[in-house]
Amino acid sequence: MDLGIKGKRALVCASSKGLGRGCAEALAEAGVDLVMNARTAETLEETAAHIRETYGVQVTAVAADITTDEGREKVLAAAGHIDILVTNAGGPPPGQWIDWDRDDFMAAIDANMLAPIALMKALLPSMMEQGWGRVVNITSVSVKAPIPQLGLSNAARAGLTGYVAGTARQVAPHGVTINNLLPGIHATDRAVALDTGVVKAQGISMEDAQKQREATIPARRYGTPMEFGRTCAFMCSEHAGFMVGQNILLDGGATNTVM
Ligand code: NAP
Repeated sequence: MDLGIKGKRALVCASSKGLGRGCAEALAEAGVDLVMNARTAETLEETAAHIRETYGVQVTAVAADITTDEGREKVLAAAGHIDILVTNAGGPPPGQWIDWDRDDFMAAIDANMLAPIALMKALLPSMMEQGWGRVVNITSVSVKAPIPQLGLSNAARAGLTGYVAGTARQVAPHGVTINNLLPGIHATDRAVALDTGVVKAQGISMEDAQKQREATIPARRYGTPMEFGRTCAFMCSEHAGFMVGQNILLDGGATNTVM
């Protein structure tokens, strides 16, 4: 299917690896020029070079921490005009409800709620002015089904979800859509980090930890960054203009709900 977005320009945050990279590659596959971001310049440059060579699109790579004001200023200054925004950042660490103090909550809220909101505030006006724009926020399955040990993530992402629900309806009359894409378990470094937590907590092997988690997924496997990215690319496509303020769950059926 032609997604109808060839030649548009996307900012994909936190995209040198994992789900962000999947989104960047799928948009590049659709002919979209990219502004990519991550903190580590070396990995980011490697991924940017791979995408330029593979898909023949223009890629601007900006090494910066997207959760800070300075990082966002640097990225936005290099980005210029943007038609499509994909927000993403690393997820907060796991722990117990009693572990976290104000600083921990503020770090999680900065990274997973206020950073995407600041990027939307910066880029929505020009999208609305041109009468076309797409925003996809990478959030988490924890928005629909909270994960007990990820209390910081549950809290910060719930805040972003509430903000998007209202804002998406305010910008939709201008041809701009905002939606959230909710990953369940996907095969990325983040999944390895969470599996390592299970290995330590239960004293089992990595293979057994992964088998245990796969058994909780009706699809009996982890998702891949590329299938996640292609769903994101569709949500950014010409065809998804009637999708407004939705929370799209990609979890292989793991969350046992009707809606
Ligand atoms: P990942 O494989 O660890 O990749 C994270 C990417 O983000 C890397 O490119 C990393 O590069 C970049 N990054 C991290 N913090 C950043 C920052 N402050 N500024 C700029 N770039 C940053 O993670 P992932 O699995 O793709 O996860 C992406 C998001 O989805 C996370 O918020 C995660 O919590 C959420 N999620 C993932 C899963 C899953 O199963 N994978 C499930 C639910 C939710 P640098 O380190 O070089 O900056």
